Amino acid sequence: MVKAIVGANWGDEGKGKITDMLAETSDVVIRFQGGANAGHTIINDYGRFALHILPSGTFYPHVTNIIGNGVALDIRKLVDELRSITSQGVPAPNLIVSERCQILMPYHVLQDAYEEERLAGKAFGSTKSGIAPFYSDKYAKIGIQVCDLFDEQRLKERLTAAVSMKNVLFEHLYHKPTLNVDDLFQELIALREEIRPYVGDAVGFVHQALKEGKTVLLEGQLGSMKDPDLGIFPMTTSSHTLAGFGCVGAAVPPTAVEDVICVTKAYSSSVGSHTEPFVSELLGEEGDELRRRGGDKGEFGATTGRPRRVGWFDTVATKYGCMVQGATQVALTCLDVLGYLDEIKVCTGYEIDGKVTDVFPVTPLLMKAKPVFTTLPGWKCDIRGCKDYESLPQQAKDYVDFLEAHIGAPITMVSSGPKRDEMTYRTPKI
Ligand code: GDP
Repeated sequence: MVKAIVGANWGDEGKGKITDMLAETSDVVIRFQGGANAGHTIINDYGRFALHILPSGTFYPHVTNIIGNGVALDIRKLVDELRSITSQGVPAPNLIVSERCQILMPYHVLQDAYEEERLAGKAFGSTKSGIAPFYSDKYAKIGIQVCDLFDEQRLKERLTAAVSMKNVLFEHLYHKPTLNVDDLFQELIALREEIRPYVGDAVGFVHQALKEGKTVLLEGQLGSMKDPDLGIFPMTTSSHTLAGFGCVGAAVPPTAVEDVICVTKAYSSSVGSHTEPFVSELLGEEGDELRRRGGDKGEFGATTGRPRRVGWFDTVATKYGCMVQGATQVALTCLDVLGYLDEIKVCTGYEIDGKVTDVFPVTPLLMKAKPVFTTLPGWKCDIRGCKDYESLPQQAKDYVDFLEAHIGAPITMVSSGPKRDEMTYRTPKI
């Protein structure tokens, strides 16, 4: 059976912790989209890790971790990440890199940076890891698959075709140095040798695993709001962040996905640029305080180190986010963070052109939305590390009930700290 762990919001919801936790009783963990442009924080007996490209089952020897065909594979970053975790005492993970995966090339990273420079103030807040040019090339069919590395003549031809297009852009649009095919070819051959032991038939492997009744986790990156079709386009990422895309990016049959665990934080955070709509944003000193107290080390991007924007929980965005993911259950993380507040606001409606709605709108309307808040009492105590839901303060349980009723999806897990075992389980009321 397949369980997908995906984000309901703008990313950084705490999917890494939930995946790491559920991986303990699973056999396979698959990354199915995105690249090394976001991070998943995991805190376990080996230490604190921000994984960018390796799946979050990496710390368990019994788990096979797969980088699925839907991922943007930055080989250099993968190799560095493998080295970094093994140098911290973690045994080398069981890893399969799908031979169908496409390679994020050095020129994608360059193109991303050049494009941001060209757009200057109008940029989309890219992490400049080459993700948008990578996916553009994939759909323009000039991308290079991992399997191409093992057929040198084919590799040379495909590289020549791709570079001839890039060089027109680099020279005439960006006024930058052009690329040399032979240099790139040699670089790729060297990288090929580094990943050779991991490359395999991930599609066959996962189908066989499912036939044998194994449990497979799909690990999403970012969240619903960042999906290019159903999110806040164009301030999205360039790959699909929805559980539905897991069927393509991890090559599992749609009928095998039985559980979609949507992860959301007890408040909002977004690493996006300041031009992005973020209706329930908390600014000034109040925002600074939540940012300082958020997550396990404050709300700063796991990959970029950028301060994340923070805000109150947004039921309009989260209800929509859970709906488009097809959430069968919801994991609410970081409830412990809110213990310092006398009162907690929840954004339960958007006012757009004088009308209040709880339906998440398309981007032009979203840009005009103003938050409508409901205020709830805080619980004013430290619940960090709590493992028994019933023992939480009544105000904390009321807060969770309130969120559940408004997002319309069953909250089954409420996380009380960043560590693997800091978790409570709850019987949903809807
Ligand atoms: P992901 O990309 O969805 O995996 O999320 P990130 O790892 O980028 O961000 C989540 C942050 O919250 C990390 O710093 C986690 O260690 C932290 N975290 C996860 N769950 C909890 C929790 O219940 N309480 C606290 N305080 N921190 C948490």
